[in-house]
Amino acid sequence: MTHSLDDISPRAALVQIARDFHARGWMAGTAGNLSAREDDGHFWITASGRPKGKLEETDFLLMRIGDGEVVERIHASNKPSAETAIHRTIYALFPEARACLHGHIVEAAVAADRARKGAKGLRLAPIEMIKGFDIWQQNPKADLPLFENHLDVARIAKDIGARFKKTRPAVTALMVRSHGPTVWGASRQEAYNRFEILEFILRYQAASRR
Ligand SMILES: [Zn+2]
Repeated sequence: MTHSLDDISPRAALVQIARDFHARGWMAGTAGNLSAREDDGHFWITASGRPKGKLEETDFLLMRIGDGEVVERIHASNKPSAETAIHRTIYALFPEARACLHGHIVEAAVAADRARKGAKGLRLAPIEMIKGFDIWQQNPKADLPLFENHLDVARIAKDIGARFKKTRPAVTALMVRSHGPTVWGASRQEAYNRFEILEFILRYQAASRR
């Protein structure tokens, strides 16, 4: 019997996603972070430094969207990842976002590295899969928003907040150059599906340039 990721608890769903993404090479070692919104202005996020292939439901913290404070640590030693700031920005900007997934994907990093310096987006190939982002035009011109990587993650989060406040992205995803994509969705299952779709499109783009 299979469940939708929305039929199980937020932490159980994120554990499933982490093990799946790790097996597919998108969360090597301790890389990446996954979060899911609760109904009361909080979200669960993976604790920093935990191997994603062996993630447990105790490897999480509950954060407040309003001020970024830690509300609950399942283990006293759980620390929020610096990239928590990006998740918090997405939840604050998009009330419909229920889950936010960030991993490190080789093809995504390669595609972003090829984009010219200062580029604000990566044009996504208009292949069938793009319908998974609810884009139904014949030859869509959809850009994956692209941001520069900074050692100070708060600065990346600020850039994301400033740009998305002005312009809503064409897809519920963004890419940080030399780093990796973040994908969100109106349900945990949708976020998961869209992460897979984005990876497929970027892998297609890398293959078509070979
Ligand atoms: Zn990262």
